[in-house]
Amino acid sequence: MSQIYNLEQNNTALPVRRPILSLPQEVAERIAAGEVIERPVSVVKELVENALDAGARDVRVEIRGGGLRLMRVTDDGMGMFADELERACARHATSKINSVEDLYRLHTLGFRGEALASIAAVAELTLLSRAIETEGEEQPAALLLIRGGEVIERGKRARLHGTTVTVRDLFYNVPARLKFMRGARTENGHIVQLLRRYAIGYPGVRFNLTIEEHPVLQTSGTGDVALALAELYHLPLAEMLNAVNIETSEGFVLHGYVGNRALAQSNRQHVMLFVNNRWVQSRPLQEALEAGYRSLLPKGKHPLLVFHLQLPSEEIDVNVHPTKTEVRLQREAEVVGLLTGAVRSVLERSPALPESAQFPGPELVYQRHLPGPRRRGLHVAESAEGYKAEAAQPGTAEVLYSLRPLAQLQQAVILAEAPDGSLYLIDQHRAHERVIYEHLRKTYMGVETREQQTEEEEQNAANLLLEPVMLELKRHEAELFEQRLPALRGLGLECERFGGRSFLIRSVPVSIGEDTQQLVGHLQELAQIAAEDSSDWEDHLLIGLACRLAMRRGRELGPDEQRSLISALASTSAPAACPHGSPILLHYSRAFLIDRFDW
Ligand code: ADP
Ligand code: MG
Repeated sequence: MSQIYNLEQNNTALPVRRPILSLPQEVAERIAAGEVIERPVSVVKELVENALDAGARDVRVEIRGGGLRLMRVTDDGMGMFADELERACARHATSKINSVEDLYRLHTLGFRGEALASIAAVAELTLLSRAIETEGEEQPAALLLIRGGEVIERGKRARLHGTTVTVRDLFYNVPARLKFMRGARTENGHIVQLLRRYAIGYPGVRFNLTIEEHPVLQTSGTGDVALALAELYHLPLAEMLNAVNIETSEGFVLHGYVGNRALAQSNRQHVMLFVNNRWVQSRPLQEALEAGYRSLLPKGKHPLLVFHLQLPSEEIDVNVHPTKTEVRLQREAEVVGLLTGAVRSVLERSPALPESAQFPGPELVYQRHLPGPRRRGLHVAESAEGYKAEAAQPGTAEVLYSLRPLAQLQQAVILAEAPDGSLYLIDQHRAHERVIYEHLRKTYMGVETREQQTEEEEQNAANLLLEPVMLELKRHEAELFEQRLPALRGLGLECERFGGRSFLIRSVPVSIGEDTQQLVGHLQELAQIAAEDSSDWEDHLLIGLACRLAMRRGRELGPDEQRSLISALASTSAPAACPHGSPILLHYSRAFLIDRFDW
């Protein structure tokens, strides 16, 4: 047993001294490769990035055996000259940068010059490439086969300009890595997800992915992100996407789409951010996006979201991690603000759509093409092209103001017609909840000072109860609650301590056109929210109050009441979502009716 083990048993013993030696090349290579190539999808990523850097307009990816058996990426980019192939496979060999300064004006996805070297160290790598300059000459493409870092074969083959890289037997010489590989399905799932991201990040490039010889993904490379999304998700997406186009005075340009709330998913997979054409996964930026939708979608839901952010290349540092998906930004705070604001402003106005728009995750898309009984049950992809011409939706507030209420359904939902002949359904409880919540925020938290608000109105904000209501709180709650009494008074909740852990509530906030007595039964719960040990307690309380003050479903509304509720909703800042994040509006567009009735 070595002394190192003794160290654990007796920590006063020193380990054996050994000389410091440079690692043999092979070991160093293997360690470096491990950082870049973690699993099959890392190979695909590097190869696709190389193809894009070479200016490819057409990228084909072929996968077998979950990528362990074979991965092949074929592009129609500018290719390489025969004498460059070997150099391309050396570590730190790149055509993309040659000075430190270049790191701060990157226009390529690659720059570290280690992807091909890393792949060559842990797999069998075949390059077949022909430089575009040689086209028209008699010269064939050059071939190079390397296994475990050693050249096995040099040759020539016929092909047009571009490059084909084939990787076989990944990790054949790294048994420890092989053991960690999950099944082919999992690895394939990662690869599908990756290709989808590039297809969206580079809508002008045609992508094609086949797995075990089954076509899994195909885009047409028209340059239109919305069309690429429609092709990938097989949904009439155009009418479910809200475009974002922002140019700030700081020199940031943000383009993209936020999916309608009906497309919200329970994972973050479809939230995609590209910074200077690079897909990035950086914590603060992801949080910025999330902050934009957290309160506007139900808990645990994430939107379909694609943002392309362009900023001056010297402001972004990509050299943070070997996989190049993490970035540091010079003006991070400004970018965070921009992202959060952009998401929020869209979702605040996005009505729900009538379809249960479950777009397929990677597994589903993959299964769609697997032979067998499963396939029959899945819906046939609709043509994306037909939905392209759908006009953009005008502002939600404008539409709401122009709605004509038709009827009330189940004493719960208002049906209303828009001037364009489309139908809106409005959940009366949630609509009222949104109206009250914003009203409370304005009057209480001073979120917006209303010009018309008079002194009198301010004073009327509380409603004296005929009989005060007594509440008991837990000891720790009572302390916080007592401290917050002045704040609660401002809200119209007049309370006082009645000794011990008991409190008397003398008044409740006035709601808008609703019987305040319905609130009384909920005072205990509300007091508990007001005594929460959290910095968000005020907002939680306002949400709680709004929910309990809002009219219930089951209440009949006359035409005037319907109209005034709709116009009150129109004047809120987020008419599409209740304060809990659930949808208020459902929209049946004209196109939807035409399509479904087959007019
Ligand atoms: P990096 O992309 O960081 O430069 P790589 O190891 O991925 O490093 O590639 C090394 C070099 O090989 C690239 O700089 C490029 O010149 C060349 N190369 C790799 N793949 C292709 C390709 N598909 N088409 C043209 N050239 C390529
Ligand atoms: Mg590269």
